[in-house]
Amino acid sequence: MANARAHAVGAATTVGIGLWLEEQARGVNTATPYVGTGLAAFMGSLPDLMEPAHHPHHRQFFHGVTFAVGLGYGLYRLYRWTPEEDWERLLRFVGLVAGGAYLTHLAMDATTAHSIPLLGKLS
Ligand SMILES: [Zn+2]
Repeated sequence: MANARAHAVGAATTVGIGLWLEEQARGVNTATPYVGTGLAAFMGSLPDLMEPAHHPHHRQFFHGVTFAVGLGYGLYRLYRWTPEEDWERLLRFVGLVAGGAYLTHLAMDATTAHSIPLLGKLS
């Protein structure tokens, strides 16, 4: 994971800004963006944990555009969900942070020379 540090910084930045903007829109000011920023930094390499970077063509299905679109739709649905219980709010928060960190990773990989596949193989 040569780029683990870059992915941690990228995920922390995008997720932290997203959480901060959401709080600004709701007119609240809590520690949530800071917690999410730290959590996102640890989750920034999730795609490389699923498909380890042992060789230049390691990026397959879970690094693919198709997977990213599906994940993006899932995140949109999660974002629109209004949880009622505390455990549901926690689930929504962790899901948005993990998904945001994951998509940030794919966006960063897409800008490299090897880019990411449209679909990729499952295995
Ligand atoms: Zn990757």
